[in-house]
This record gives sequence, C-alpha cells and structure tokens, in this order.
Amino acid sequence: PSDKLSDSPDHKVVEALNGKDISFLTRVRRDDIRILTRINGDPVDRESTLGAQAINVYEPVFSTSGPDTALGALDISVPYKAIAESIETSYRHMTMLMGGGLFAVWFVLATISWSVTRRLRRSAAVNQHLARHDSLTGLANRMAAAEYLDHVLESTGDRSVAVVRLDIDGFNQINEVLGYENGDQFLVHVADQLRAVATPTDLVARIGGDEFGIVMPDTDGRGATDLINRLRRALLTGVELGGIGLAVEITAGWVQGHADHRAAEILRRAGVAVRAAKAARIPTLGYNSTLEGFDADRLALVSEFRHAIGSEQLVLHYQPKISTDAHKVVGVEALLRWQHPTRGLLHPGAFLPGVESTESIIPLTDWVMDTACRQAAVWQRIGRRLPIAVNVSARCLRDPTFADRMLATLVRHQVDVRLVTLEITETAVISDPARAAATLRRLADRGVHISIDDFGVGYTSLSQLQQLPIHELKIDRQFVAPLLQGPDGAAVARAVISLGHELGMTVVAEGVEDDATLCALADLGCDFAQGYRIGYPLPAPELEHWLENRETDCEREHEPAARGLRDRG
Ligand code: C2E
Ligand code: CA
Ligand code: CA
Repeated sequence: PSDKLSDSPDHKVVEALNGKDISFLTRVRRDDIRILTRINGDPVDRESTLGAQAINVYEPVFSTSGPDTALGALDISVPYKAIAESIETSYRHMTMLMGGGLFAVWFVLATISWSVTRRLRRSAAVNQHLARHDSLTGLANRMAAAEYLDHVLESTGDRSVAVVRLDIDGFNQINEVLGYENGDQFLVHVADQLRAVATPTDLVARIGGDEFGIVMPDTDGRGATDLINRLRRALLTGVELGGIGLAVEITAGWVQGHADHRAAEILRRAGVAVRAAKAARIPTLGYNSTLEGFDADRLALVSEFRHAIGSEQLVLHYQPKISTDAHKVVGVEALLRWQHPTRGLLHPGAFLPGVESTESIIPLTDWVMDTACRQAAVWQRIGRRLPIAVNVSARCLRDPTFADRMLATLVRHQVDVRLVTLEITETAVISDPARAAATLRRLADRGVHISIDDFGVGYTSLSQLQQLPIHELKIDRQFVAPLLQGPDGAAVARAVISLGHELGMTVVAEGVEDDATLCALADLGCDFAQGYRIGYPLPAPELEHWLENRETDCEREHEPAARGLRDRG
C-alpha cells in the first residue's frame, strides 16, 4: 500500500485487526475512526465515482468468547447531509440568538447611556443657568452682565456702550418691616418693570441684593438717562405688598464706555456714580472722574445745589481779560460763585463737577446766561461795551434746544450778540462732535463768539478744529505757568499761539500770575491774558470800581491806544 494508503483509517483498522490489537480501536481518538468522508472515498474502495458526503465510523466487532478477540470492524457510512443541515440550522439559530442577545444588550446599554447623558446635560444646563442667572428674578447675574459687556466692547468699534446701575431706596426697611418674602416680591416687581422698559439688545441683570444693572450696546449717556426716566415712569404706580401700597424709588448711576475700556472697570465706574448719587441724594448721576474718592460731604452740596438755582445764593464774579500789548481790558469772564448759607463763598470746584453730571446743569447754564446778559445790558446802557465770556458745559451743547434758548436770552435783554462769548472745553466738542458742531454753528451764525477753554488739555484734532466756528483759543493755565522755565517750558504755549493765529483765531493765556509771564506772553505774540496778576474775579460793582481806578491810572500813565477784540468776520 502507498503512504497515503498506510495513513488512511481503513488501513489502520485492517492492521489493528491483523495484529489482533483491538485495543487500538478503543485507544485511538474518536476522530481517527470517525471521519467525514465521501461514499467510495476510501483508498481501498473499488468504485471510482465519489458519492455524497458521509460520516465513516468503524465499530469493532468482538467474538462472544471475550472482548480481546476482535472479529473485525464494521465500517458504517452515515449520510452527512441531514447532519450538516441540522448543524447549519443550529448554527444559524445560535448566530441569530447571539446577534439578538448582543443587540438587546447594546440597546439596553445605549438607552441607559443616552438617558444618563441627557440627565447630565440637563443638569449641566441648569447649573450653567444658575451660574449666570439670579434665581429670584430670573435676570442675568453680575458675571453674565460682565461677560455680555466684554462681548459688546469687543464688537463696539467706535460706537459707545452705556451701563446703568440702579439701587432701590430704602430697601432694607421694606425687608425689615414687611419681611423677606415681601422684599423678594418687591425685587421681582422692579425686575419686571426693568425688563419691560429695556430694549431687546439691552441686558438687564441683578448684580447684588437690591442692585440692578443694564448693559446698553450702541447707547450714549442720553440713551442711558432716557432708560432711567422710562423706568421711573413705569415705577410711578408703586406696588402693593401685604395689603400696603408702596412707592418704588430708585437711585441711578450711569457711565458711557468705549472699546478700549474693560467691563470690570465700566461696571465699577457705574457703581461709583450710583454711590455718589446716593450720598448726594440726587436721583440720577453720570460718572465723571471727579466722583472718584468723593466725600459724602461734598456730594451733599450737589443735592443742595438744586435748590440754590434761582435763589439769591448764586452770583457771578467777573474776571478781566486784557490785551498783552496795550494792557487794555477787552472783556471779562463770568465765573460762578455760590454764597452758601453755612459754608461761605464756594468756588465751582467744590460743587460743579458733581452738578455737571446731573440734570441741574441745564437750568444752571440758563441762569448764568441770563444773569451775564442782564449785566452786559446794564453795562451797555451806561456806555460800557464790555464783552462777557460765559462757561458752557458739554451737556448743554448736546441739548438741541440750547442754541435757541441762548439767542432768545440775548434778544430778551437786548444785548449786542457780539458782546457774548461762549467758552467750551475741548472734551465738550469731542464727546458728540456732530451735535456740538450743530449747536455752535447756529450760535456763531448769529454772531456769538466761541472760545475753546483749557486748550491743550484735551485731544481735539486739527480737522475737528477747522470744521468748527471757533474764534478764540484759551491756553490752559498748566501751560502758562512753566513759560519762564526755558524754551521747553514755552513749547506748548508757543505751539498753541501759532496754531490759533494760523487758523485765524485770537489766543488768550489764562492763569497769569506775574509780570514776567505777561511779558513773555507778549513776546510770544499771545493776544490776550487773564489771571490774578491782572485782576481777580470780582462781583460786578467791585469790578466797576476796579475798571474806574484802572482807567484813571492809565490816563496818568498815558497808556498807548488799545487794540480791540480781533474779529474773524
Ligand atoms: P476756567 O474756565 O478755566 O476758569 C478759570 C479759573 O481759573 C477760575 O476758577 C479762576 O478763578 C481761576 N483763575 C483765574 N486767574 C487765575 C490765576 O492767575 N491763577 C490761578 N491759579 N487761577 C486763576 P474758578 O472760578 O474756581 O472756576 C473753575 C472752573 O469752573 C472754571 O475754569 C470753569 O471751567 C468752571 N466754571 C466757572 N463758572 C462756571 C459757569 O458759570 N458755568 C460752567 N459751566 N462752568 C463754570
Ligand atoms: Ca473759562
Ligand atoms: Ca480755562
């Protein structure tokens, strides 16, 4: 037999039988004697055509005499098809079962993980909402307000953003007398009114116990005060708590911010404004740097000032202005003084910065203008043509009715328009150039002179200057004082003088305190000078004395003929 034949199970069985070693048939692995083959597949088979698949099993056949005597082996071929089909079926069942089982396991796990994720997400969203909102009113909290403000500042470009902060007056008493629950309801009422008056782009926040904040993109101070006024009107009806009707009163501070500010700084400034307003007991106050480090005492003056307007307590003092060459008096500047009933004579520095950020600045300017015009008319009638300069705050230039009121005042007192100069600061022009320019042009067209006060301190660009009807520049005192300290000390004054003349304006130096400075100014070609060396601000009757004494002195000294006010035409 061939090698192949000697390996075949048939051969092994025959050999085992020959050697009578039947134990082989029991020793060998079942696989060796149960093989998957085909009918006629054994090498010893004579039929040449292979039949169907079958399982070949050898079963030893023993004699009855004993288990050691094998008579032979029964070669059984069991058809495999049915077995194969049954295996196939059970395999398929098993795969389906396993697949189904796995799918079921996956489905259960996926459902669990989805619901856990959803719950986590929902609780994260709730946490995030809680972290950025106030749970009582549902408004944004301080953190969200700061974030929104930072976002607005980033995209604001050269537009401005306003921030308002509000504090409820007497809220502690409401809490103490009516209980915390009513206090909460009170806050919710204010929050609702705030939401109602704010625009969709405004962000309303509760930033502290009884403090609210509103971030207003693309808004200036006027927009901020408009919102505050709208809110006050909305709160007028009051609120009923525990059967008691309560008035709702608020104190408001606002600030205008620009792209180069940070949110935290703007919010802080708004806080400074509202605290200052509280201390001064005025309803609304805009931020300005003088409010920093305010003392309550000083701010109390701002509150009192409201009642001083129209009373006898306010007076104007007049400080003379002379030509530097002929030393002739060419006009006076009206400076406000407050004869306070208990504190004595107060200079503007003590109360004006606070007043300038309140509504009182409008009636105050009207009063100053009226008083100065009345005085000019009195002097005009006695033949003294003395031009009066009046200081006008930035706020007034933004008031669209200001120019007409000024012109009406001049007409009322029958004063020659050319006898009145308005002194405005650079910042007044910069803060709202379009509206300021419109007001100034309306006045200048009617012959009113315009002077830029404290020139050199602000940042007016040359193009802005050229577009405005300006007749005069006033060099700020801080550039006049160092005039005698070498060539560098005179640099700014020299530059302002030549700039003013180049643009066809006259130039005034303020704060002249000694003769040497007056001489230096004359050498530099500065037209006019004003300062303690020339004359102190005086009440009108005393100024008249001063003028009369000076005239007699001049006559004695044979002063050269005076140069009049240069007119730009
Ligand atoms: P200002 O317009 O720059 O007025 C000049 C200030 O310098 C005045 O202070 C004046 O008294 C003071 N002064 C004059 N000569 C000298 C001097 O030789 N040396 C020094 N060190 N100071 C001198 P005052 O009267 O206290 O006024 C302060 C500011 O208040 C004014 O500055 C002006 O901006 C504002 N102001 C005054 N009156 C009014 C007003 O009626 N309306 C408005 N809106 N502002 C006013
Ligand atoms: Ca002035
Ligand atoms: Ca000045």
